[in-house]
Amino acid sequence: MPAPRVSVNGSAALLPFRNRPYDGSFTGVYSQARGRKIPDSRQGRAATRMQAMASLSTPRLRNTLRKLRASIAEPVAPEDAEAMAQDLLDFLAVQAGIKPVQMLARDHGGAYWNAAIVDMAERYGFAIIEGPQWRVGSYDQFPDWLREHVHDTLSNTRHRYVCRDRRTAREVSELCGSGVAAVEQEARLLNYPRCCVERHHERSVQYFEVFLTNLRRHAQNDEAAARLLAEGYTISDLTPDEAKAVRELVAGAPAPFTSFQACEGCMAAGSGSPAQFKVREGLQLARAVDEQLLETLCPAGWLDEVRRRR
Ligand SMILES: [Zn+2]
Repeated sequence: MPAPRVSVNGSAALLPFRNRPYDGSFTGVYSQARGRKIPDSRQGRAATRMQAMASLSTPRLRNTLRKLRASIAEPVAPEDAEAMAQDLLDFLAVQAGIKPVQMLARDHGGAYWNAAIVDMAERYGFAIIEGPQWRVGSYDQFPDWLREHVHDTLSNTRHRYVCRDRRTAREVSELCGSGVAAVEQEARLLNYPRCCVERHHERSVQYFEVFLTNLRRHAQNDEAAARLLAEGYTISDLTPDEAKAVRELVAGAPAPFTSFQACEGCMAAGSGSPAQFKVREGLQLARAVDEQLLETLCPAGWLDEVRRRR
C-alpha cells in the first residue's frame, strides 16, 4: 500500500477516505464491542437489498470486472492490489446501482488502473465529471488568509466523479461548481455513512488547526510572515502535542470493502453501526461477484468465517 497521503503537506489532498493500510483496528473494536468478528451478512436490510441487486446482475458485473482487469495496461504491483480492488469494487457498486457516485482520486498511488475505469464508465454511458475535493463548512474559525489557503487547496485537489445517472451527474456538476457540499449530500452521493463523513470533515479542520499552530511558530508568531509562508508550507519540527494530534488524525479505521474511514462512534457501536452496514454491503457485493476481490479486500482473520457463511 502507498503511504497515507494525509499528514503534513498543505498542498496535498486532505485526509482521504480511502486506501489506508488496514491495521485491524476495525475488526478488533467490533469483536470487543459485540463479540462478533465480522458483520453477519445473513441478516438485515443490507442483505436483502444486496441479494436482490447482486442476484439480478451478477453475470453482468462479473463481465465488467473481467473487462476491467483485461484493460489495465500495467501489471499491478502487490502493494497496489488492495487499493485497485477497492476501486474496482466501487465501480461495480456504481454499476449495480448501490453507489450513485464513485470518486476517483487522481493522485492516489499513481492509480494507473483509473484509466480502465474511466474508459469503462464512458462505454456504459456514465457521466465523468472532473472537479475539486468537496468542502464542507466554511473554515470561518481561521484567519482570512488561511481560509483562502484551505479553499485553494481543496479547489486545486482534482478528482474525477463517476456518476451513475444524469440526474446525479447534474447534482455533482453543480456541486463541483461551488465546491461546497453538505454532509448529508456527500454521504448520499458516495454511499458513505453520514456520521463518518462528518467526522472526516472535522478531521480536516483539526488538521488545519495543527497546520496553523506549526506555521505560526515557524514564522515566530509574525502573522504577515505566516501568511507568506502558507503557500506550499509543509509542517515540520512538530512539538510532541502536534505530533500526537497528527498521529491521531491519521490513525483512522478503514472500513473494509469501502473507501471511507469509520468514525469513532461507529467503531464503538460495533454491530449494527452505519459503518458496519456499509461494510456488509461491500462484502456481499465482492462475495457475489468474484473470489479474488473478496480475498484481496478481506481483512486478515475474516476470510475463513466469510466462506463458512456462504
Ligand atoms: Zn460513522
